[in-house]
Amino acid sequence: MERPIYPLKNMRITQGYQEGTHMDSYAIDDAGLDTGIENVYAPFTGTIKKIYTKDANEIWLESDSPVEYPDGTIDYMTMLLAHDNDISDLYVGKKINQKEVFYQEGTAGNATGNHCHLECGRGKFVEPGWLPNQAGYYGIINGKKPEDCLWLESDTNIIDNHSYNFKTIPTSTEEEIEQLEPEEPPTNTTDPDEENIEDKPEESPRLIYTCKKAGLYGIYLKENEQVFLK
Ligand SMILES: [Zn+2]
Repeated sequence: MERPIYPLKNMRITQGYQEGTHMDSYAIDDAGLDTGIENVYAPFTGTIKKIYTKDANEIWLESDSPVEYPDGTIDYMTMLLAHDNDISDLYVGKKINQKEVFYQEGTAGNATGNHCHLECGRGKFVEPGWLPNQAGYYGIINGKKPEDCLWLESDTNIIDNHSYNFKTIPTSTEEEIEQLEPEEPPTNTTDPDEENIEDKPEESPRLIYTCKKAGLYGIYLKENEQVFLK
């Protein structure tokens, strides 16, 4: 299952959510490394569901499958992006692969400098894509905080994260170590008095970890915890 990635290589959030023109929404603006125009990479494999050329060249990209949110949610995701100056290469129904460059920063619409306006919505695209909010601005339907929706890649260059606590995609080694942690033991329904642990033969290991490659593996153990290695 895909993890939606933060769509810019350089994170420089110039306006956060619930402030300015983002009042009453979870929209953010990212201006990238500098004042120039930077590429925007597809957060997930998806399909363009709507294009709106009368304002800021807004586009809506819906994931083709459910994705894994950093907050644990598993669901489809729809993203709204704005301000690309030229979207003549995009059309409704176009398929985009994850990490493919499909959009750019720009100044289309009400923008003072090159940036990309980003909004995440939980679930599939819902017509008409956005609705006016209480503050009078349009916001994506089912909007959700970007740090609860998008993962950073290990090489994302953070210039300004606006104090948002984004998670980074764990490396494969970190995930293997996570799998080492034993599952909850089954609930023991027998009378504890009947059980004589001393008489029992050596307890069989609850989990056997198969080492995929040679290397140094670190695990955290609490006092009196045991490890079974084969
Ligand atoms: Zn914005």
